[in-house]
Amino acid sequence: MQESNNWFQREFDDCLVRLDSGTDGLEEEEAARRREKFGYNELPIKAPSAIKRLIRQFNSPLVFILVAAAAVTGILTLLGEAMLIDTMVILGVVMLNAILGFFQEGKAEGALAALQNMMTAQTTVVRDGKPRTIEARELVPGDAVLLKAGDKIPADLRLGSVEEFRVNESALTGESIPVSKQADKFTAERVALADQSCMAFSGTYVTNGRARALVVETGLQTEFGKIAEMMRHTETKLTPLQRKITDFTRKLINIILIVGLINFVLGALLGYSWVYSFLASVSLVVAAIPEMLPMIVTGILALGATRMAQRNALIRRLPAAETLGCTTVICSDKTGTLTRNEMMVTRIWADEREFAVTGSGYLPHGDFLEDDQVISPTDTLSLAETLITGCACNDALIVDQDDQLEVIGDPTEAALKTSAWKADLHNEGERVAVIPFNSEKMLMATLDRRHDGRQVIHVKGAPEQVLKRCKSIMVGGDEKPLDEAGALLVAQRMASEALRVLAMARVEVEASRQTLALEDLNSMCLLGFQGMMDPPRPEAITAIEQCLAAGIRTVMITGDHVATARAIAARMGIGVLDEHGAVSGQDLDELDDVTLSKKVEESSVYARVAPAGKLRIAQSLQANGHIVAMTGDGVNDAPALKAADIGVAMGINGTEVTKEAADMILVDDNFATIIGAVEEGRHAWNNLEKAILYTLPTNGGQALLVMGAVLLASFIPLFSLSLPLEPVQILWINLFDSVFLTMPLMMEAKEKDLLHSKPRDEDESLASPLLLQRVVLIGATIALCGFVIFHHFGSPAVVNGAVADPLLISQAQTAAFWAVLLVHLGFVMSARSVYASAFSFSPFGNRWLLLGILVSFLARLAPSFSPAIGNLFRTVPFPPDWWWWIVPCVLPGFIVLEIDKWLRRRVVQIN
Ligand code: ADP
Ligand code: MG
Repeated sequence: MQESNNWFQREFDDCLVRLDSGTDGLEEEEAARRREKFGYNELPIKAPSAIKRLIRQFNSPLVFILVAAAAVTGILTLLGEAMLIDTMVILGVVMLNAILGFFQEGKAEGALAALQNMMTAQTTVVRDGKPRTIEARELVPGDAVLLKAGDKIPADLRLGSVEEFRVNESALTGESIPVSKQADKFTAERVALADQSCMAFSGTYVTNGRARALVVETGLQTEFGKIAEMMRHTETKLTPLQRKITDFTRKLINIILIVGLINFVLGALLGYSWVYSFLASVSLVVAAIPEMLPMIVTGILALGATRMAQRNALIRRLPAAETLGCTTVICSDKTGTLTRNEMMVTRIWADEREFAVTGSGYLPHGDFLEDDQVISPTDTLSLAETLITGCACNDALIVDQDDQLEVIGDPTEAALKTSAWKADLHNEGERVAVIPFNSEKMLMATLDRRHDGRQVIHVKGAPEQVLKRCKSIMVGGDEKPLDEAGALLVAQRMASEALRVLAMARVEVEASRQTLALEDLNSMCLLGFQGMMDPPRPEAITAIEQCLAAGIRTVMITGDHVATARAIAARMGIGVLDEHGAVSGQDLDELDDVTLSKKVEESSVYARVAPAGKLRIAQSLQANGHIVAMTGDGVNDAPALKAADIGVAMGINGTEVTKEAADMILVDDNFATIIGAVEEGRHAWNNLEKAILYTLPTNGGQALLVMGAVLLASFIPLFSLSLPLEPVQILWINLFDSVFLTMPLMMEAKEKDLLHSKPRDEDESLASPLLLQRVVLIGATIALCGFVIFHHFGSPAVVNGAVADPLLISQAQTAAFWAVLLVHLGFVMSARSVYASAFSFSPFGNRWLLLGILVSFLARLAPSFSPAIGNLFRTVPFPPDWWWWIVPCVLPGFIVLEIDKWLRRRVVQIN
C-alpha cells in the first residue's frame, strides 16, 4: 500500500472499489488471503533484547560495591597477598546474581507478554455477510466493521453510515472532547487528522452512537501505528512494592556500608592485619546485603499474576497483583457480574392485565399465559405493541453459532427480541433515527417508518424515565389518561420480585421527520412493562460469603430499580448487616460529601446509580481509608475504574474502553473470580513476606558472625586470632545457601486460611517490627551456633595467646561452616509459615524447597570430595565424632522460630 491513500478525500463507494470490497464486507477466504499479504493488524511488540536485559543486571549500587571489592582484592593479589580466591568468589557472587536475575526477569517478562497476548481487543466484523466477533488483530483492509459506544476503533476506518456517532480522539489529537463524525463529509483539500470527519482512527474510541465502516489501513500503516513506530520506547514502571523494596535496600546498603567501615577500623585497631580486616569487612558487607530481594519481588508478582490468569483474572498492571491482597471493599455491578446476564422476559404488564411468559433462554419458543390459561398475544393490541416496541427499539443480534445461540449486543435487548419472537411478532418498520441507550438517560428511542408510511417513535427504558414522558396509556385498544403513580406502583411490585423491568411507550409523529432528540419524547402513550428474570450466579453467592469471612465488604452498585436491587441483594447476602435499605441514585445526589462518607460505611446496596455516582462512591470509600476494587462495563464507567484502587473490567460484556482503563479483566465476567484473585494476591504477599522473613535474618546472621567475632576478640583470645568463618566461607553461604533456600519460598503453597483473616494494611512498612525482631532473634541464633562450635573445637589450638595448632583452627572453622548451614536448614523449615506452627502442615509440601535443601547440602559436600575446591574454600577434614556436636545445630533455628511463632499466636488469641 502506498504512503498516503487520502481516504478522507474520497467518496465511500470509491474507497470500496479501491479496496475491492462490497457493502457486505469480505468473504472469509478473501480475508485470509489478505492477511497473508498485509499481515496481522497489530503493532509488533519487541521485548527488550537479551543483551540489554543482561547489562541491566549489572546496573545496581550493589554490584558496584561488589566489583569495587573485587578490584581491591585483585590488586592485593597482584601485590602478593594470596587473595585470588576471594576475588574470584566475589566475582562469582556478581555473576550468579546477574544470571539468576537475568533468567528470573526473562521468565517474568515472558509471563507478562503471555498475559498481554490473552488480552487482545475484540471487534465486530461482517464476514460472509454475517456479523461476527473476532480479535481485532484479524482485521484486514476491506473488512466491514460494526461499531458501538465503548468500542475501541480497531484500525483506520472510512465511515460508511453513522448514527449519533461520536469518537474520543484524545489518544491521537490530545483533544479530550468527543468529536462528531459524519460519513458523507469528505473534503477535497488536505486537512489535519482532527478534521477528517469521515474517518475513524485506530487507538481512539467510540463514546456515543453506532457506525458501520470500512477498514482502510491496518497495523503499522495506521496513523497510530506510524506514531508508535516513531516512539518505540516504553519504560517498564516499577510497582509501588518494587519501589518500596528498592528504597529499603538502598537505605540498608548505606547502613551496612557504615557498619562495614566501623568493622574495618575496629578490626584493625584490635590487631587483625589490615588486609584481613578489610576482607572481613567486605564479606560482612556482601553477607549483609539481601541481593535476592528485588528479584524475588518481581518474580512473586509475576507468578501471582500468572496464577490469577489461570483463575480467569487477567492482570493488566502488575501492581494490581499486590494491591488485590489489601482489598477491603469490592463494589460490583449487578447485571452480569452477580447475576448471569441471561435475561428472559417472564412477566408482562399490558392492558392493565398481567401475563406470564414461558420458555427457555433465547429460544424463540414459549407461551403467553393469563391466569394460567394460554392466550394469543396478538389478540390484545397493547400487549402486541409492547412486544413490537421491545423488538423495534433494539440493536441486539441473536446468532446461531455452531448450534449455540449467541448474543451480540445487550442481553436485555436480546430478551426483548426473544419475547416478541415467541408471539411471532417482528419489527415491522425501517429505522430512520435513534437515540442509543446510555446509563445516564436509562432509555433508548428509535424513530421508525412503518410499512403503511406512518412514523412512530418507539421508546423503552427504566419505568420512571419513560413514564414521566407519557401522557396516556393504551387499554382495550384505546388511549386513556395515565395514572402515573399507579403504574409506577405496578413496576415497583414487579421489581420487588427481583425482575428487571422495562417500560415500553410510543408516539406517532409526522411522516416527514428525519431526526430524533430527547425533547421529542413527550406526550407518549405507555404500552406496558416487560419484566425479565436474571438469575443470580450461585458461585457469586458463595464468593460473597467468602468475602465476608475475609473481612471484605461487597457493595452492589446498579443502574437497575431500587426494588430489583434490594430483592437480588437479599437473595445474594449483600448488605445483610445494613441498618438502612438501598440507597438510590437520587438520594446519593442529595448527600454532601461528609454525609456520604458516613453513608458508604453503612449501606451496601445502591440502585439507579449513574456512572458519576459510582465515581463518588469509590472516592468516598477511599477517603475513608478503604482499598476499593470496582467493576464496570460501560464506557461511562471508565472514570470510576481509573479512580478505584483496582479497576475491574468485564471480559465478555465489557467495552474495550473499560478494559483499557482497568487494572484487571475478568475473563468470565464473574464476581467469584474477583475473590479468587484476591486470594492469589494475598498468597503472593504471603510468600513474599516469608521470603523476606527468611532471607534478612540469615543476612543478619552472617553479618553478626563477623561483627560479633570482632567484638568478642577483646574477651576471648581465640577470636582475636581468627574469625569463626573464613571470609570466603561467608561468601559461600551468601552465594549458595541463601539463594537455594530463599527462591523456593516463592513457590510455597497457599495457606488454608488465607481468606479467613482481615485484609493487610496497605501502608504496612517492609521494615516491620516483626522483621526487625526476627533479624535479631534468628541472626543471633545463627551467629551463636557458629561461635559455640568454633570456640568448642578451636580453643585448644590457642596456647599462651598464640595459635599453636593452625590445622585445628581450620578444622574448627570447617565445623562452624557446617553448623551454620544446618541452622539455616532447620530455620527454613519453620520459616515456611509466618505464624503457623511447622507441625500444622506437611514437611514435604514444597518440593522446590526440598530440592533446594538437597542442592545446598550436596554443594557443601563438594569441598570434602575435591581437595582443590576444599583448598579454595579453606575447608579441611575433621574427626567424624565432631558431628555429634554439629548435627544438633539443625534444631536451634527451628526451635527458636517455633517458640517465637507460638508466643505470637498466644498473644493474638488473648487479644
Ligand atoms: P445495570 O447494568 O447496573 O443493571 P444499567 O445502567 O445497564 O444498569 O441500566 C439501568 C436501567 O436502564 C435498567 O434498569 C433498565 O431499566 C434500563 N435499561 C438497561 N438496558 C437498557 C436498554 N438496552 N434499553 C433501554 N433501557 C435499558
Ligand atoms: Mg448494564
